[in-house]
Amino acid sequence: MNNIQSCQELNVRAGATEAEIKAAFRQAARESHPDSSPNGGNTVRFQTAYKAYQKLLSEARSHQKSGDLPGRTPFQFLNRTRNGLDVFYDLALVKKEGAFTIAVPWTSEEVCPRCFGQGQTLTQLNQGSVYRPVPCPRCGGTGHADKFSHLEVKVSPEMVRAGKIRLKGAGSYDPKEARRGDLYLNLNFVSRLAKSN
Ligand SMILES: [Zn+2]
Repeated sequence: MNNIQSCQELNVRAGATEAEIKAAFRQAARESHPDSSPNGGNTVRFQTAYKAYQKLLSEARSHQKSGDLPGRTPFQFLNRTRNGLDVFYDLALVKKEGAFTIAVPWTSEEVCPRCFGQGQTLTQLNQGSVYRPVPCPRCGGTGHADKFSHLEVKVSPEMVRAGKIRLKGAGSYDPKEARRGDLYLNLNFVSRLAKSN
């Protein structure tokens, strides 16, 4: 189950917060858990919802964590938003003299290697010569395969003064148009970082 399927399973938006994911799971559990549902529940549905919940929760937590790779300047995520293919991260960090490096958790959206971005594969009917298109089993029909990694960003004193960094081509990817958006980092300087939970 990929992230998009997990979102569909729990009926939450992509990039949902921890609180939204927990609320959605509670709702799904009420409807499907054998102990809480009046009609005996649906064990398979409950287990699928639980898997989706765990996946989305760990993903949300990894994004909320400060950028704490060794040797990198720590920061915290305040917010993530999107506008079309452009992605905006609001970060909190303590002001530093000179240049420094931050490591931003980042999901690169690659073209799905199974369906080449089409979102569909063909399946053979009854061993005959008739093929039917089905949603690609690898990417779930989205056409892209997400890869979680870190983006190393060198922050210059000029960027600190501007409070903004634009990373061309590091936003979302649209396989149909073969176009990438940009990633914008908004730097918010604080006297110290809040304790992460
Ligand atoms: Zn695919």
